Amino acid sequence: MNGTNFMTLSFASRSENEAFARVAVAAFVSQLDPTIEELNDLKTAVSEAVTNSIIHGYDSDPSGVVSIEASIDGDTVSITVKDSGKGIEDVELARQPLYTSKPELERSGMGFTIMENFMDRFEVSSEQGGGTQISMVKRIESKKALYN
Ligand code: ATP
Ligand code: MG
Repeated sequence: MNGTNFMTLSFASRSENEAFARVAVAAFVSQLDPTIEELNDLKTAVSEAVTNSIIHGYDSDPSGVVSIEASIDGDTVSITVKDSGKGIEDVELARQPLYTSKPELERSGMGFTIMENFMDRFEVSSEQGGGTQISMVKRIESKKALYN
C-alpha cells in the first residue's frame, strides 16, 4: 500500500463494545494480510486496553467515551486507545506485572504486560483526573513473508 491509511472510532464505555472494538481493529488491519498469530496479538492488546478504559478509567460507568485511532504506514500499524476517565496515579507502578488496583474483581494485573509483549512499541501516558492514552505499534510481517 502506498502512503498512510487511518481510521478513528469512538464508542460508549460499555463492556459489550469491547468485542466490537477488537473486531473493528482486526478488520482494518486485515488489509496488511497479517498471520492469525499477528491478528490475535493485536486483538488481545486492543481488548486489554479497551477493557482497562472501561473498568478502570470509567469505573464501569457506561456514560464514558473510549476512542481508538489506528493508522497503517507501510507494513506498520499504530493504534491509540484513549479515555477521559480518572487517569493513573503512578504509571510505573501500574505497569508492573501482577499489579492491579482491583484485586476484588479478580483482575490479574497482567493487561499492560500482555500489551507490552504482544506489540513492538508500547507507551502509556496518563494524567490523574485527565484520562489515559495507550499508544502501540506493531510491524506486520504478513502471510506473504511466510510463503515467499
Ligand atoms: P487484568 O488486565 O489482568 O485484568 P488489571 O486491569 O488490573 O488486570 P493492567 O491492565 O495491567 O491490570 O492495569 C494495571 C492497573 O493500571 C489497573 O489495575 C489500574 O489501576 C491501572 N489502569 C490501567 N488502565 C487504566 C485506565 N485506562 N484508567 C485508569 N487506570 C488504569
Ligand atoms: Mg487490565
